[in-house]
Amino acid sequence: MVLKKKLLDIVCSEPIQSVVNPLYKNNAIVFMLHRFASEKFSTEGHDPAFLSKCLDYLKVSGRKVVSLDELFQSINGKSEPIDNAVVFTIDDGFLDQAEIGARIFCDHDCPVAICVITELVAQRYWLAESRIAFLLENATLSIPEISFESKQFYVDIKSHNGLKAAINQLVFYCKSLPLQKAEEFIAELSAQLGINLPTQTPLKYRGMNWEMIKSLEKKGVSFCAHTEKHPALSAELPQRAREEIFNSFNCLKDNTANPSQIFCYPTGRPAVDYTARDIQYVADAGFVGGISAVPGYVDLKHLESVDVFSVPRFSFPGNMRDFKQIIHHVELMKDWLRGLKNPSMS
Ligand SMILES: [Zn+2]
Repeated sequence: MVLKKKLLDIVCSEPIQSVVNPLYKNNAIVFMLHRFASEKFSTEGHDPAFLSKCLDYLKVSGRKVVSLDELFQSINGKSEPIDNAVVFTIDDGFLDQAEIGARIFCDHDCPVAICVITELVAQRYWLAESRIAFLLENATLSIPEISFESKQFYVDIKSHNGLKAAINQLVFYCKSLPLQKAEEFIAELSAQLGINLPTQTPLKYRGMNWEMIKSLEKKGVSFCAHTEKHPALSAELPQRAREEIFNSFNCLKDNTANPSQIFCYPTGRPAVDYTARDIQYVADAGFVGGISAVPGYVDLKHLESVDVFSVPRFSFPGNMRDFKQIIHHVELMKDWLRGLKNPSMS
């Protein structure tokens, strides 16, 4: 349950934090961001002003923003635990993430890792989910019932919320398919809606390019592999899953000066979107760790409890109250108060 604002203000106040902070200082936080709100790109997403405000807040609250690879050095015992560490990651490699997101981090002198889909940034591919969104966004308001093999979908795109729900429904289904089948599904969707996909990826769905990546790298942004085409690895045959992991890492090595040694799983639910088989491929490819998309703190004081190839990440929240709850370990405090978990005193 969300804490009332007044209580949260008390918990986050200097006197309380000076007592609480030492108890939790070894619990690192990794945030996961996606698209940024922008008129230019016609995108919905993170508010750039809010992100700036959060980065300013971290500075005054004594949190240390470190790079993803620095955190993993600590997790892997190659460096001392970093007190109050916060890490930012941005998933996928879209154009708005370079022009808006990365710029905010650079302006605040904060490290950030962008997890890139290598075929997207090579400008050779637009994501299956982007193409589904495009087709529905451009469909007439009364669209036919959509069917694919034995599946039938009933969608209503007359309202903005209806359109979003329809996109989510079809993307959710598509993500359960291997890449090859996903292509058949999109071709079928395109035919049934009577809409052709443009040959050039629309701005909204375009990836940043290697030139931008090289330039951002010089400004301190790091880049990690997030597969070639963003499939749920568990849906792919072994050889294809392995190639997605190895090829994306090789591509990053060829195009960046200092690629991150951490792998980012598409969609990121352990045992659902990736399995022990895929984790083994990630290790075989030479990565030293992996990041999932499940929320949680990273307990640097009890490294034996950290699954280095499935390190959790919090979705970056949309308001200051939720942000403070994560930053000030309010969830851990609530667990402790409930007697479910004792904070580390050692
Ligand atoms: Zn992704």
